[in-house]
Amino acid sequence: MERHNTNISRRSRRLRQGHRGSGPVVYWMSRDQRIDDNWALLWAQQEAITRQKSLLIVFCLVTDYPGATPAHFQFMLTGINDLPKRLAPLNIGWTMLQGPPEKSLPAFLHQIDAHAFVCDFDPLRIKQQWKQKLISNLNLPFYEVDAHNIIPAWTISEKKEYAAYTIRPKIKRLLADFLTDFPPLVRHPINLTTTLAEITAQDLATPAKLQASQKMIMEPGEREATRAAKQFIDQRLVHYGEYSNNPCRQGQSGLSPYLHFGQLSAQRLAIMVSQAPLGSEEKEHFLEELIVRRELSDNFCLYEPAYDSVEGFPQWAQKTLDEHRGDTREYLYTLSDFEAGNTHEALWNACQLDLVQNGKLHGFLRMYWSKKILEWTPDPETALAFAITLNDRYSLDGRDPNGYTGIAWSIGGVHDRAWKERPVFGKIRYMNQAGCRRKFDVEAYITSVKENTSK
Ligand SMILES: Cc1cc2nc3c(=O)[nH]c(=O)nc-3n(C[C@H](O)[C@H](O)[C@H](O)COP(=O)(O)OP(=O)(O)OC[C@H]3O[C@@H](n4cnc5c(N)ncnc54)[C@H](O)[C@@H]3O)c2cc1C
Repeated sequence: MERHNTNISRRSRRLRQGHRGSGPVVYWMSRDQRIDDNWALLWAQQEAITRQKSLLIVFCLVTDYPGATPAHFQFMLTGINDLPKRLAPLNIGWTMLQGPPEKSLPAFLHQIDAHAFVCDFDPLRIKQQWKQKLISNLNLPFYEVDAHNIIPAWTISEKKEYAAYTIRPKIKRLLADFLTDFPPLVRHPINLTTTLAEITAQDLATPAKLQASQKMIMEPGEREATRAAKQFIDQRLVHYGEYSNNPCRQGQSGLSPYLHFGQLSAQRLAIMVSQAPLGSEEKEHFLEELIVRRELSDNFCLYEPAYDSVEGFPQWAQKTLDEHRGDTREYLYTLSDFEAGNTHEALWNACQLDLVQNGKLHGFLRMYWSKKILEWTPDPETALAFAITLNDRYSLDGRDPNGYTGIAWSIGGVHDRAWKERPVFGKIRYMNQAGCRRKFDVEAYITSVKENTSK
C-alpha cells in the first residue's frame, strides 16, 4: 500500500494553493472518463481520506467543444452514462455541469465549499487554457494528475523530444517504477453532506447535435473497452507484428477510441499485454506503439504550443517545404473534394470513404492519406489544416495528441528525419501507391470499402 501511495503522489503536481473549504474533495473528470484504473480518481480518494472529506466527481459537458461531432458526443455520453450507477455503491458523488469549465466550475466549487480540486492531465490547448483560467479564478488547492500516460508527461521529460529514439531511453529508465498495478478504489468512508442532484447527460438540456441517433461505430463504455482489449490480446496480439501494417487484415487492436476518451487505461492495457502468455517480440512491438509513440505524442503537444501549425515543424522541414512552395502540383483539390472522396485516385478515395463510414482509418493508410493531401494542395499550411479538419471531424479517436502528432509527422517531418529530396515534399518522407502495393493488396482494400458502403 505504501508503494501504491508513493506512486499516486508521484503522478500529481500542484497547480495552485488556496483556502480549503469544509466540503468534498472534487475530481473534475475530463480526459479520463472511467472509474477503474484512474490515477486522478485514486489520488482524489487518497486526499479525501487523509483529510476526512467526502468525494465528488464532476463532469463538464461542453456542447461546442471544437471539432466535436454527434458521433463523438454519442460515444462519449453513452460511456459516461454508466458511471453514476457504478459510483453509488462506492459512496462517491457524481454530478454534471454544462458550459465552459472555467465559467461553470468556480461558482459550483464555491457553492459546495470544496476542500480541494483535482483534474486529469491533457496537453491540448483548449484544456490548458481552461486550467490557466481556473488557476486564476479559484481560491482552493488545485492539483493535476496524469491519469492518461503511464509515466506523467512532465516526469518523462521537461522538454520537447526530438524523436522516438530520444524519448525511448527516458521511458525505459522510469517504466518499471511506474508500470505498477493499481490500488483498489474503496467504498468511500465519508458521506457527502451536500445535497446534489445526481445529474446525468439526459438531464441536461442538450442541443440537437448531441441527440443524433447515428449508427454507433463501436460499443462505448468501460466494460466494452475491457472486453475488446481482452479479445484483442487473446486472439490477435500474436499476429500484431505481422499484420498491423496491413489494412486488409484486422491486425491492429482498434482500441484507440477507448483510449482517446479514457474509457480504457493505457496502463491497464500495458499490464494486460505484458502478462499475456506470448513471446516478448509480439508484446514489445505493441507496447512500443502504446507506450513510446503515444507518450511521445503527448510530449509533442505539451511542449510545442504550435502542435497544429507549420511553425511546429522542425526547422529543416520548414526550410525544405518553403523551398518547394513554388513547385507545380499536378492535382489540386478543395476541402470539399477531399471530404467527398472526389480525387483522381481510387485508393485515396477509398481511404476517405472508409474514414467517413467507419470513423476510423488504418494506421498505415493514415500516413498515406495525409501525405497525399500535402501533394494535392497549394501549400503545407492548407494541407495541414485540411488533414486536421478531416481527421478531427471523422475519426472517432480524433482531436487527440496522437492525431496532431501523426499529421505533423506525415506532412511536417516531426519526429522523422530528412529523406531524398523531391518535388513538393522536399526532404519530407514520400509515400506512393507502389509502396502500398508492397505492403497489402490495394485492390482488395478498395473493393472491401466499396462493398461495406453499399451494405
Ligand atoms: C496522419 C495520422 C493521423 C493520426 N490520427 C490519430 C488520431 O486522431 N487519434 C489517435 O489515437 N491516433 C492517431 N494516429 C496514430 C495511429 O495511427 C493510431 O493511434 C492507430 O492507428 C489507432 O488504431 P489502433 O488503436 O488499432 O492502434 P494499435 O496499432 O492497436 O496501437 C495501440 C495504441 O497505440 C497507440 N499508437 C499506435 N500507433 C501510434 C502512433 N503512430 N502514434 C501514437 N500512438 C500510437 C494508440 O494509442 C493505439 O490505440 C494518427 C497517425 C497518423 C499518421
